[in-house]
Amino acid sequence: MEIRFEQTKSPKAKPTDESKLGFGHIFTDHMFAMNYDAGQGWHDARIVPYGEISLSPAAMCLHYGQEIFEGLKAYRTADGTVQLFRPDENYKRMNTSAERMVIPKIDEEFMVEATKKLVEIEKDWVPHTDGASLYIRPFIFATDPFVGVKPADHYLFLIILSPSGPYYSTGLDPVKIYVEQKYVRAVRGGTGFAKTAANYAISLKGQDEAHEQDYEQVLWLDGVEQKYIEEVGSMNIFFVIDGEVITPELTGSVLPGITRKSALEVCKSKGIKATERRITIQEVADAYDAGKLDEVFGTGTAAVISPVGHLKWGDKVMTINDNKIGPISQMLYDTMTGIQWGKIEDTFGWTVKI
Ligand SMILES: *Cc1c(COP(=O)(O)O)cnc(C)c1O
Repeated sequence: MEIRFEQTKSPKAKPTDESKLGFGHIFTDHMFAMNYDAGQGWHDARIVPYGEISLSPAAMCLHYGQEIFEGLKAYRTADGTVQLFRPDENYKRMNTSAERMVIPKIDEEFMVEATKKLVEIEKDWVPHTDGASLYIRPFIFATDPFVGVKPADHYLFLIILSPSGPYYSTGLDPVKIYVEQKYVRAVRGGTGFAKTAANYAISLKGQDEAHEQDYEQVLWLDGVEQKYIEEVGSMNIFFVIDGEVITPELTGSVLPGITRKSALEVCKSKGIKATERRITIQEVADAYDAGKLDEVFGTGTAAVISPVGHLKWGDKVMTINDNKIGPISQMLYDTMTGIQWGKIEDTFGWTVKI
């Protein structure tokens, strides 16, 4: 499929102070768009000026939530080139999400090419500051003007780009995490493994209550017994117990993170024992009491590695590694960000040059 390009007539001024970028506030000059109509398939791929879209008030996505998304980044390397990190994995996962939400599949290779083309056009928007990047948000939603429950016949696929500041401004500050015991995020057979807006909507209440207690994020337990650890809701979770790296296995209610997968592969390449298995919150608490809970960290595209300093489960507050980043978390952070920003050789073949 050809990609039509319509250049903006009113380019925006690029942010001059990259330290104030934050995350997800500023959008670039252009976006990618493509339509799906039943009988016609995906068509009319185009890169057009970033701007508002018109949607029927009856658009199906607004009423019954048929939507999926992805998140990845473009990084500026020391030699000035721009690169992506495993974009093929994002579009593969997008098709898994599409399958679950009865959204028509996309051509993964074409979408990698379309993303490269969009980032190429917007390459001057990729920040220069160490640790800053261009966040890429592909998403698909149902547009049929129809108030009724069924899979839609019409969809819009957009990719928008947002220059984002370094996740950590003052070193890798450990986060405070609250183990959720009232609400659940996902159940087996549900949509936990899909990257879909609904999973986030239902997580807000727990997040809100955690904030009231001065905790930054929520650790979700399984939806049936609230016993097994699942994930943080925008990050996967890892524990280092007695030298072994453990992360919950993908049972269908956990989002298969690309950072999670990469962290496991880095551990294996360094000869560190890394296991995917079911793990209960009780096992973590017992390891803590026995002095064997060495490290806890989250993984996700935004933060890459996010050390956990405090973990609160009911009345029990666990302080991990003296509220400091541990050696395995640091090694993973250095290796993965090193590859992403082109500071160390990518022996895994994960980066894609623009
Ligand atoms: C996106 C996401 C993650 C992290 O996935 P990455 O591919 O590593 O960015 C973890 N959990 C949820 C619920 C997510 O939506």
